[in-house]
Amino acid sequence: MNIRFMGAVKGVTGSCHLIEFKDKKLLLDCGLFQGRDEELNYQEMDFDPASIDYLLLSHSHIDHSGRIPLLVKKGFKGTVYCSKATYELCEIMLLDSAHIQEMEVEWQNRKARRAGKPLVEPLYTQEDANKSLEYFKPVLYDQIIRIDDNITVRFNDAGHVLGSSIIEMWFKDGSEIIKVVYSGDIGTKEKPILNDPAIIDYADYVIMEATYGNRVHEDVEKRDETLINIILKTVLRGGTVIIPSFAVGRTQEIIYELNKYYDAHLSDFGTSTNLLKNVPVYVDSPLAVKATEVFKRNAGVFDEEARDLLKKGDNPLKFDNLHFTQSVEESKALNFSDEPKIIISSSGMCEAGRIRHHLKHNLWKKNSSIVFVGYQAEGTLGQRIRDGAKKVKLFGEEIHVNAEIYNVEGFSGHADKNGLLNWLKGFKEKPCRLFIVHGEGQAKEDFAKEVEQQLGIECIIPEYNEVYEIKGRGQVECVQVSKERLAAYSKLSPEHVQQMMEELNEMREMFQHTLGQVQEHVSSESISIENYTLINNILLNMKNDIMNLSMLSGK
Ligand SMILES: [Zn+2]
Repeated sequence: MNIRFMGAVKGVTGSCHLIEFKDKKLLLDCGLFQGRDEELNYQEMDFDPASIDYLLLSHSHIDHSGRIPLLVKKGFKGTVYCSKATYELCEIMLLDSAHIQEMEVEWQNRKARRAGKPLVEPLYTQEDANKSLEYFKPVLYDQIIRIDDNITVRFNDAGHVLGSSIIEMWFKDGSEIIKVVYSGDIGTKEKPILNDPAIIDYADYVIMEATYGNRVHEDVEKRDETLINIILKTVLRGGTVIIPSFAVGRTQEIIYELNKYYDAHLSDFGTSTNLLKNVPVYVDSPLAVKATEVFKRNAGVFDEEARDLLKKGDNPLKFDNLHFTQSVEESKALNFSDEPKIIISSSGMCEAGRIRHHLKHNLWKKNSSIVFVGYQAEGTLGQRIRDGAKKVKLFGEEIHVNAEIYNVEGFSGHADKNGLLNWLKGFKEKPCRLFIVHGEGQAKEDFAKEVEQQLGIECIIPEYNEVYEIKGRGQVECVQVSKERLAAYSKLSPEHVQQMMEELNEMREMFQHTLGQVQEHVSSESISIENYTLINNILLNMKNDIMNLSMLSGK
């Protein structure tokens, strides 16, 4: 069996892994690359889409599903297995994604025409998206699916977004069975509406996400309180609260939490909560409106708390001052009124959609607040604003950031470091290898260290287009190394190590010289001598490391 990693290896977008077993090819997810990796969507795929027999889809988020219409456009004729809710969400999300692609291309082409440049084509159209849905075959959680005589598959609740799945796969080779588990995206425990991620008891190999592999969500218990306090503060000073949110999942969770808060404070009169009840909440995303309908149709996979509310006759996704805006006119009107309000809009990372208009109208206002409630991938507008950009460009205009910026991590859809480790601890027998994907470089490395130390499971962090051959339990070999890794290895030539040594020596001499001068001429209060000493020590340590490397590289 071979596993080839072709997405979500440099970051978190474009999830796509290929398993080749006997005469079958199975794809795990086929997501859209976003942010800094966007151009990868336009490259030829690293495999022939027509040769893929099955696509096992972990969940509907576009970074996991967004290239399915492209896959079909390029010749895929197999079956897409996913949970029922994932299918229903894909019905609206893939169409929405196609619509965004078409709109962007239209805008680019208008400019291209004026500049006499060649026109471009959308990655896929709404027609392509519609056609791709014909290949979907929804299944139930826990259902045993016999793909063929040798491959069996089962979807389990991942608690990340409605319908999200952890996928178990059994591959039978003669008398031996190798079991591979794909985590998809793993949710947090106690997440609103959804069940906790399913515990899997056995696997030989696990392909696992590590989005928050080195982070602990700090405000999980207090997330509602934190959000309510931000809203109150903003509303009291007459401002607008803008919540960039994934239309699917996070938006419904925020609605659910607000509803819960209002219910719990029903009898508070004359208090700030009472004031809050009169503040309109606008869900300004046609996609979120449709997604909320899908949620309502899939209450069967809700957690106990949400089901109890339904039984009592309380629709947890509805309250008095909640409004869904559909048309562009309604959306625009929101920015022409000064009333304090809450606007929940997408996309969650501010890369597209109506949120960009709301940011344009509110980022410069001191009394407004922008509240991030989800992951912001590197290179996205959301990440820049969250990390303190003083000005950003929107619709060709430079906008100053004067609004208050908040990041409420407790709403994250992804388990944090402890959640991921706890999920792994649920295995009754240790998996023999863990492939870590879906995370920024440092998060994956830190998580690998933690897993190796705490659980003694050997970790592999695959790079783009690397292929691992699995011969049996514990027998795995990298049979195609990435170009980047090869380039890094090649730097370890004896000549290169020698050159690094010389450069370091020069740097150290320079620092020692400067240190001497500093000690002689400048009072110790104005320049930190400790810093210079520290740097000198670091350089010495690096020299030692390079010496060790030169031993390894045969010097
Ligand atoms: Zn996801």
